Amino acid sequence: MKKIQMVDLKGQYETIKDKVDSSILEVLDSTAFINGPQVHSFQKELEDYLQVKNVIPCANGTDALQIAMMGLGLKPGDEVITADFTFAATVEVIALLQLTPVLVDVEPDTFNIDPEAVRKAITPRTKAIVPVHLFGQSANMDAIMEIADEFGLFVIEDNAQAIGANYHFNDGRTKKAGAIGHVASTSFFPSKNLGCYGDGGAIFTNDDELAHTIRGIVNHGMYERYHHDVVGVNSRLDSVQAAVLRAKLPNLDMYNKARQKAAAKYSEAFKGQENIVVPFTADADDTHVYHQYTLKITNGKRDALVQHLNENGIPCGIYYPIPLHSQKAYKDSRYREQDFEVTNKLVKEVISLPMHTELDDEQIDFITSTVIEFVNK
Ligand SMILES: *Cc1c(COP(=O)(O)O)cnc(C)c1O
Repeated sequence: MKKIQMVDLKGQYETIKDKVDSSILEVLDSTAFINGPQVHSFQKELEDYLQVKNVIPCANGTDALQIAMMGLGLKPGDEVITADFTFAATVEVIALLQLTPVLVDVEPDTFNIDPEAVRKAITPRTKAIVPVHLFGQSANMDAIMEIADEFGLFVIEDNAQAIGANYHFNDGRTKKAGAIGHVASTSFFPSKNLGCYGDGGAIFTNDDELAHTIRGIVNHGMYERYHHDVVGVNSRLDSVQAAVLRAKLPNLDMYNKARQKAAAKYSEAFKGQENIVVPFTADADDTHVYHQYTLKITNGKRDALVQHLNENGIPCGIYYPIPLHSQKAYKDSRYREQDFEVTNKLVKEVISLPMHTELDDEQIDFITSTVIEFVNK
């Protein structure tokens, strides 16, 4: 059996080496390292793929979130509601902009922000909601867009983990995750579903005026050379990364299908296990792109399982071990523990198994049998 990796970047690279190498060499030959034609082409190709009017590439997914918030003109003291159970980048940029993060609990099955908790957290100062499409599955955007409309709030989708996932609205329409709110951000960090070979990110929006504002913000607030109309940042996707992404974007659906296939195989093996809860998915199989395959271990053996897997050469991850509201940097005396019941429980139960495009059946069989045997012991 091949050695099991949490994410197999090397195995994937070997299957696309010729394409990636020639794409990178083109950039080296052109020496157009910044804002080269590859960046522009990638932007267009991603707009087509996502069916959004504007993609603005930038340096990473954290910048993308920050710039989206700057573009919306949010002001210090404005409250921004987001999930307690996510990667810290989401809340970090809210705090950096001196906005007030308001963390709320998530749903126990999807791990995504709980629309009812969002509704309860709204005050006259609330300006935006940031749903995070965690682990590859969109948050409940029907409910979130409805709440946003009712209260006149912006919706900023953190789509770093769900690029390529579809969302089916209650009325039958389908859109890509990240193409639904006012603006969205994504990350091309190497381990993400569409990863480059360094840092990268992008902002998407169907609002042309907002897109124009954001194009200036990413470039030092310039709309005309050396005229700085707003305070901006320097956040660029470099041409080498765009070249890698152009080589990989045509494979994204295939990559997501490979993840879905591995996830289906995992879930089939765990069927009927009373102490193991497999990831929730809606009826349609295109709504979850499994950035992570995350189980809940409900009999208190999660931590022991981590150790057991490590001893057996099976990597795993705990995403995330500490609720954001309990992190030193984001504590707030207004938070009450009883409002975070779900997150407080999830951090003790979740475990993410190896998930990538190169997992084979033999590896999955070994992983699932090792997990099942240990959890039932
Ligand atoms: C990865 C990630 C980010 C940040 O992306 P970077 O490119 O690493 O800055 C933000 N939010 C979520 C949910 C992520 O998973």
